[in-house]
Amino acid sequence: MSNGANGPALEAIDLSKGFHQGDTRLTVLSGLNLSVQPGERIAILGPSGSGKSTLLHCLAGLDEPDAGTVSVGGQRLTGLVADAQARLRSRYMGFVYQAHHLLPEFSAAENVAMPLRIRGQSQRSAIAEATTLLDRVGLSERLRHRPAQLSGGERQRVAVARALVNRPAVVLADEPTGNLDRDNADRIFRLLIELSESSGTAVLVVTHDPTLCNRMHRSVELRGGALQARPDLAGT
Ligand code: ADP
Ligand code: MG
Repeated sequence: MSNGANGPALEAIDLSKGFHQGDTRLTVLSGLNLSVQPGERIAILGPSGSGKSTLLHCLAGLDEPDAGTVSVGGQRLTGLVADAQARLRSRYMGFVYQAHHLLPEFSAAENVAMPLRIRGQSQRSAIAEATTLLDRVGLSERLRHRPAQLSGGERQRVAVARALVNRPAVVLADEPTGNLDRDNADRIFRLLIELSESSGTAVLVVTHDPTLCNRMHRSVELRGGALQARPDLAGT
């Protein structure tokens, strides 16, 4: 796997983040700690508005925490200039969003190849790798389709392939199955698990679905700005 460093794939220490709303201040994250081991799969739960997306944005360096630090692959992300953060992101992280965020004017294969192209890989070898991965997610007949020509479930499978194509140390997924029916949601989770296992990628996924939570190694709940361990829901 690409995370050569020992220690956590992703680590947040004493993270705090708030927003100004008029003259009041809304505290969203407050002294939050999280350590994600290489290959570990963690579900994050919490009611709407509890700060799950804010947390993922801070972990990705897409939003700057007010205090605390984030490290990825053993390297400090917090405090770096935007360019350096972007380089660390593209080297160590993959993302899956609730809405797929695929580039509409590119084919499925081109979308999956994009992270490899950004890292300087040739078009030919990037497309070859993308094709192999799309085959694994059951989309070998859809390589040239554009996102608008795919079903919701197919688009999310493309998004999962894209997030994992460069074997990142960690994938962050924000309600990746929120718009899908049960069968498609199951399939997305199976793919996330399968692909992450073969690349040693850690997975941090926000989901409301207790069945899907049970497929993770552990689940945590975001409450009062911090993460609390959640008991196993075996049997649900
Ligand atoms: P979740 O993903 O758990 O539903 P969010 O992280 O999206 O929650 O939002 C947490 C809280 O922070 C919400 O109350 C939301 O209104 C507020 N919030 C999120 N982003 C901003 C922002 N850019 N400016 C002001 N408030 C924000
Ligand atoms: Mg959210």
